[in-house]
Amino acid sequence: MMSTWLDRDAAAVWHPFTQHSAWLEDEPTVVDRAEGPWLFDTEGNKYLDGVSSLWVTTFGHRNPEIDAAIVAQLGKLDHSTFLGATHTPGIELAEMLLEITPGLDKVFYAGDGSSAVEAGLKIAYQYSVQTGQPRPLFVHLSEAYHGDTLGAVSVGGMKLFHATYRPLLLNTATIGSPGLRAEGQTPEDRAAEVIAELEAVMAERGSEVCAIVLEPMVQAAAGMLTYHESFLAAARRLADQYGALLMVDEVATGIARTGPMWAHSHAGITPDLLTCGKGITAGYLPLSAVLATNKVYDAFVGAPDKTFFHGHTYTANPLACAAAIANLRLAKQYDLPAMATALGDHMGRLLKPLGDSPAVKEIRRIGTMTGVEVQSAGHRTGFEVCRAARRRGVWLRPLGDTVVIMPPLNLEPAETELMIGALAEAVDEVVR
Ligand SMILES: *Cc1c(COP(=O)(O)O)cnc(C)c1O
Repeated sequence: MMSTWLDRDAAAVWHPFTQHSAWLEDEPTVVDRAEGPWLFDTEGNKYLDGVSSLWVTTFGHRNPEIDAAIVAQLGKLDHSTFLGATHTPGIELAEMLLEITPGLDKVFYAGDGSSAVEAGLKIAYQYSVQTGQPRPLFVHLSEAYHGDTLGAVSVGGMKLFHATYRPLLLNTATIGSPGLRAEGQTPEDRAAEVIAELEAVMAERGSEVCAIVLEPMVQAAAGMLTYHESFLAAARRLADQYGALLMVDEVATGIARTGPMWAHSHAGITPDLLTCGKGITAGYLPLSAVLATNKVYDAFVGAPDKTFFHGHTYTANPLACAAAIANLRLAKQYDLPAMATALGDHMGRLLKPLGDSPAVKEIRRIGTMTGVEVQSAGHRTGFEVCRAARRRGVWLRPLGDTVVIMPPLNLEPAETELMIGALAEAVDEVVR
């Protein structure tokens, strides 16, 4: 039975990353309400939210503490500008973000992950202009994903999403993906190959490079391509050697998705610029930020023309800040990194038999960020596996033939078992 809501949707809405010729055939879920890790559709079905509503939900939906924080903020201040004025939630959140991010000193707010990346790229370029010589080149990785605005697309590396826009983009030098290994190659050997590529690019064009931009430890949108931490350490070393900045995009990996609060700490490095978004408001409201060192910030302080002429209307929206503050309080109270690490380990144990199945090519996981790459069984195998999981009460979303699992970080053990069990059955049903 075709729902009226879906007819109205198809008549009025253009969805992101969606081919509308197949939209209704795919039987999209009409989400009506949510509670904890559960989504409920308009027909009364319930699904475990196995991808944290696209990688954002940290403590489940409608968490009582976060709800209360937003309601309290709503009773006080809905929105006021951050241009020429400030407000207490914006100040308090900046302090809390810096407290969890040793080595970084200032917070510049933006709206979505893409707009944080956009701001970070402009900061990096302007920093070069104001500290010596303009360096109009960005080094980035193939298979990278940093969002969909044109600056972010410039440092992206996913052909299907990005190739069309090439004529419109910034100057970049692309190196290989440290996560794309040849059959049998170790992660460390692959990292060494890409480090050599980066060394060559920097040796040739290092003085033109304002920043090396990368997703730390895992290229998520490319299908959870995890890589060895030696690559991050080398990127830090080479950025320093050639006077470029290192910008880590923690929009997906931040707030304990890989275990520690930030993924770059797996390599024991400190970036010059860090972008965050997605999970910082616990999945409630759009808010993102660029964190910068004082070394970078200081280059913008002085004469009027040194100003960073950039900002969005809803920058540091107080309701979003209140959600983020409540999220970071809970993260501290419950030791979120320990919680996320334990959840990831449990997922790893439960996934072991599936990893040995001939239906599965590879399982890549760091903390809770997990990709199960299935053997192709014809057309849109990843999608069909997700559809089969949905029939078993688990909502998942694929990236090609990689099924992503990225649950809320406070998922209970029984729910984790249900999630992985449904996935294993779905793989079994679809891939024979
Ligand atoms: C999702 C994502 C972005 C873009 O964030 P939006 O909020 O969708 O604009 C940027 N970088 C990474 C690593 C992401 O995963």
